[in-house]
Amino acid sequence: MTVANKLAEMKQIIQKACDKFDRNPNDITIIGVTKYVSIDRAKEAVEAGISNLGENRNEQFFEKYESIGDKATWHFIGSLQSRKVKDVINKVDYIHSLDRKSLAKEINKRSETITPCFVQVNVSGEESKQGLDPEDVEGFIESLQNYEKVQVVGLMTMAPLVENEEELRAIFRKLRAIRDIVRDKHLPHAPCESLSMGMSNDYRIAIEEGATHIRVGTSLVG
Ligand SMILES: *Cc1c(COP(=O)(O)O)cnc(C)c1O
Repeated sequence: MTVANKLAEMKQIIQKACDKFDRNPNDITIIGVTKYVSIDRAKEAVEAGISNLGENRNEQFFEKYESIGDKATWHFIGSLQSRKVKDVINKVDYIHSLDRKSLAKEINKRSETITPCFVQVNVSGEESKQGLDPEDVEGFIESLQNYEKVQVVGLMTMAPLVENEEELRAIFRKLRAIRDIVRDKHLPHAPCESLSMGMSNDYRIAIEEGATHIRVGTSLVG
């Protein structure tokens, strides 16, 4: 199936989820995750109107960035080693995986401009997942105030691969609750208005629970 067809289908699902919860689809950024696909398929995605792309590894990011460049807004969604920050930081537009102070420090040191970041939270508590424990998020974000090139624009999480809708909702709701607390502090370095949550198998639920950025690979470009 073409990316354009898949996107059209997805937009209908997004529209329905938005109607149900009185949201505007324009408030949701669709990030096409191209980590599994070729450069040509990533280009096809951009031509179909997906202007935000996500990659989780440096090498794959560079490959696609070389040929697509500024035609897309780039989201780095994978875990980022501090020593590799310098290679990507002035090419990507957003980082979704800020989860430790040493990483914030390195981003601050290497950024030529302010870098919008999502703080990654391990809401589900799975050992295999990156991210801060929910109870550490507030303190962590407050501790970033002197890194003037790090702007905390929101929170990000990955839900477990389960079918149980209520279980998924509980995870997304919890991220949203933490987001509300941080946002309402009105910290200058952390407006924290956005929620990066929802992937191929759970983006509809994530939107119903307030996602502003969904990261979709398999069901959109795969
Ligand atoms: C791979 C990946 C996605 C997309 O996953 P799909 O299930 O293919 O939609 C989203 N977020 C992160 C962090 C990923 O690594």
